[in-house]
Amino acid sequence: MKREAVSDFLIVNHKIHSTENTDIFDRIKGLSIYEVLRITDGVPLFAEEHIKRMKRSAGLAGVHIRKTEMEIIEEISILVKKNQCKDINVKLIWTLSEEKEFFLIYFIRPEYPNQDAYTRGIHTILFQGERKKPHIKIVCGSFREKITKARKKAGAYEALLVDERGYITEGSRSNIFFLKKGKIHTPPSGTVLLGVTREHVVGICNTLKMEISEAPFHIDEISEIEGAFITGTTVDVLPIGSVDNKKIPSASHSAVQKIAEHYDKEVKAYVARRKKRNSA
Ligand SMILES: *Cc1c(COP(=O)(O)O)cnc(C)c1O
Repeated sequence: MKREAVSDFLIVNHKIHSTENTDIFDRIKGLSIYEVLRITDGVPLFAEEHIKRMKRSAGLAGVHIRKTEMEIIEEISILVKKNQCKDINVKLIWTLSEEKEFFLIYFIRPEYPNQDAYTRGIHTILFQGERKKPHIKIVCGSFREKITKARKKAGAYEALLVDERGYITEGSRSNIFFLKKGKIHTPPSGTVLLGVTREHVVGICNTLKMEISEAPFHIDEISEIEGAFITGTTVDVLPIGSVDNKKIPSASHSAVQKIAEHYDKEVKAYVARRKKRNSA
């Protein structure tokens, strides 16, 4: 596996190690369940939801993560202090190597979109391919590499995965929403990775009384959309400016802007709540 840890330290099975002298990444070859959280002002955002999903992912893969939610959150905060970095992404990996369990916690350099991406929308491509077990966040290097290659070639920030029948399920590392005839559409929960950001956005649509439907979305419908956006830990709510050759004015769509603003509010409220609790 790629040695992708940044900053000075990482944690492997409760112990702090230097990111320089570890060969642990070379040993990761077997089943690996992962999770990516964003750290904002020292607070791991929506940590409880991410850890719950990680444990659910493990359960669906037939393994059990023993580490408790409290231990994980505690170790993330140790790393925040040791690495003296308060705004970054943190990756959690549970893996089995030579019949031994490993739990890694380390910082990664996120590919944050630039401000332009939010004001103009990103370019995306359609990509024929499916994640075989959509609910499990599992490391699959070869699939990821193929997608990265196609994205880079097209200058696209994200690839939208299309199944054999022509339905768009999700982004390769994000969830997707479309606006069509004034309604919001997102592919059904059974067919996608249940993103923490996706959950928040569905909640926001309900709060704002925006009509939202979970139904399969076919590539033929792209010609009819008024807007689209992806959601994810690294990108928040990010408008799509184009899908292949089709331009979409998503960034100036009022519903997209409203949802993005509300999501931003939820993030700030969570961070403020956490900081208050930590200082109490
Ligand atoms: C991580 C991921 C997402 C986004 O999930 P968040 O919890 O919102 O970050 C969506 N799709 C796939 C395939 C993912 O791996």
